[in-house]
Amino acid sequence: MGEKISNLKKILSTSNQIIAFTGAGFSAESGISTFRGAGGLWSKYDPSIYANINYFNQDPTYYWNFFKDERYPVIKKAKPNDGHYALVKLEKQGKLYRIITQNIDGLHQIAGSSDVIELHGNTRKIFCMSCDKTYSIDDIYKRLKYELPPRCSCGGVLKPGTVLFGEPLPQYALDMAMLAAQNCDMCLVLGSSLVVYPAASIPRIAQKKGAVLVIINIDPTPLDDIANLVIHESASKILSRLIG
Ligand SMILES: [Zn+2]
Repeated sequence: MGEKISNLKKILSTSNQIIAFTGAGFSAESGISTFRGAGGLWSKYDPSIYANINYFNQDPTYYWNFFKDERYPVIKKAKPNDGHYALVKLEKQGKLYRIITQNIDGLHQIAGSSDVIELHGNTRKIFCMSCDKTYSIDDIYKRLKYELPPRCSCGGVLKPGTVLFGEPLPQYALDMAMLAAQNCDMCLVLGSSLVVYPAASIPRIAQKKGAVLVIINIDPTPLDDIANLVIHESASKILSRLIG
């Protein structure tokens, strides 16, 4: 492990256009449980009902009940962890120029990172499906006790700004992420199992374009074989040790 850490230190010191690619494992240490795997939310709630756009369009009350009972309390309580703050420092040092995240909790921005591309949207942003008017998560939560589904002043159904199954990723975010991947000199994958596509293609593109690919994730990933350095550890622990 010591050798890997000093390797990572070396790579960090010579890189000046770093992108960080963060996934569910990065937020897990902020108390936001992962969706997949044993004990994940999807083992309790069928995602084809609770997180699918076709089902949402048929009957959004399932989603909003799930949001009220499971998501809001967790999101409300979650605070950025040492890993989030280490990335803020890396940005202040002028080394990190962009974060690309699969997470929907907005914790990078709350920590103070300024350039965050959200591939799967942000659950703190709630918008009207008819007129795009936006609402705050706290205001809507209060209404959920007596209004299901919550509606906009125009009568349209409200939807959290997260990408549900069956929905495409926001094209603008995807384009920005691809561009960042093509122009970075280091891609730092943090707490992502790299199984959700097209998001997971971004580290691959970065490496193809000549960037050094470093993966820090507790479990093995499909890109471990091609990465320049792999550390199977908590990403926030490693980062805060190096940068914190
Ligand atoms: Zn509206």
